[in-house]
Amino acid sequence: MEERFAFLAEWYDPSAALLRRYQLLFYPKDGSVEMFDVKNQRTFLRRTKYDELHPEDLFVGNRVNVFSRQLNLIDYGDQYTANKLGSKKERTLAMIKPDAVTKVGDIIQMIYDAGLIVTKARMTRLSGKQAADFYMEHQSKSFFNNLVQFVSSGPVIVMELMGDEAVSVWRKVLGPTDSSVARKDASASLRAQFGTDGTKNAGHGSDSMASAARELEFFFPSTAGHSPPNTAKFSDCTCCIIKPHAVSEGLTGKILNSITEAGFEISALQMFSLDRANAEEFLEVYKGVVTEYTSLVAELCSGPCMALEILSTDAPREFRMFCGPADPISGTVRDLPASRVGRAVCRDQEIARHLRPTTLRALYGKNKVQNAVHCTDLPEDGLLEVQYFFKILDG
Ligand code: GDP
Ligand code: MG
Repeated sequence: MEERFAFLAEWYDPSAALLRRYQLLFYPKDGSVEMFDVKNQRTFLRRTKYDELHPEDLFVGNRVNVFSRQLNLIDYGDQYTANKLGSKKERTLAMIKPDAVTKVGDIIQMIYDAGLIVTKARMTRLSGKQAADFYMEHQSKSFFNNLVQFVSSGPVIVMELMGDEAVSVWRKVLGPTDSSVARKDASASLRAQFGTDGTKNAGHGSDSMASAARELEFFFPSTAGHSPPNTAKFSDCTCCIIKPHAVSEGLTGKILNSITEAGFEISALQMFSLDRANAEEFLEVYKGVVTEYTSLVAELCSGPCMALEILSTDAPREFRMFCGPADPISGTVRDLPASRVGRAVCRDQEIARHLRPTTLRALYGKNKVQNAVHCTDLPEDGLLEVQYFFKILDG
């Protein structure tokens, strides 16, 4: 019998204001999908080839896009699927310590190279008390005070990683605790490359599934608890969003690297899963202005994205030039209505095309909608867009 994976999926139907449930079937042999309406017991989508659904995106807890519907995978549909796709999947907490936060791009690349994916991420800063709580188990150790002082000395980036045997795989990527030992025994490891000594060792990883559960709850509380605050500065800033297609293609590390190598400072970073209403609200300024508005909304809520606060002098203008023309292929200026946004887009695209042939969008984008990143278009909107993510959505 042909191999197939089954899931129970939920889709929020905005027009009926209803949560609808489907059985989602995926056939790896030809990459086709099929959907059944559970309540009405009938076929909703006949088996159809669909190249944009990848087997690695199929796990419970993930959100996938099937023909512009955002489906939440809430359970495995049969024992075969659970055994085959769910058995070895683990979650773990990774922390990039203050000494390696500027290496976030390289580190996320190492995570993906190891076969893990980043399902949550957040830049935060721990108070001394929070650091002491987090490292409670080491309270009695001689290095405790140094350790607490170090991890609360600047921003850190915490992430939930997922994949087969994520706990041990991530610890292997980190390497030995002492960075100089790591350089001797595991020269390709993260601590060998980015750590300094026994305390300043670039990263943290949960040491068991039980500590992973506790540490994930600490930073990503399941009930509206208070996680340590984000690090947004809300001044001299602009907003960048790594779009869902780029996140799911595993381009996050490369894009972050390009941004920091170009001299921009990333002062806040967080992953969000936007629902349609949020995506519409955020992109409202483009409604009736760019013909792709509906597709832009669909892309932005098709899966997790990563929002960044970018700092530099004249941040919105400088960063926008670096992103390049909205259309990465042609870079052409479309016939946009002479609206506020329209004029700004036309002028800057023209400039970007001449001055920056290797822009972010040219490097990582595919078309005008899946163009790798959103950036603030109008200088006066930089702060507003940053506030939308880091004040309103992360409220
Ligand atoms: P990890 O799980 O590999 O991070 O190591 P541990 O849980 O044993 O220790 C937590 C953190 O405390 C380490 O990552 C180091 O930053 C620090 N640390 C651990 N052992 C020592 C030590 O012997 N000396 C110093 N100075 N710091 C240490
Ligand atoms: Mg430990």
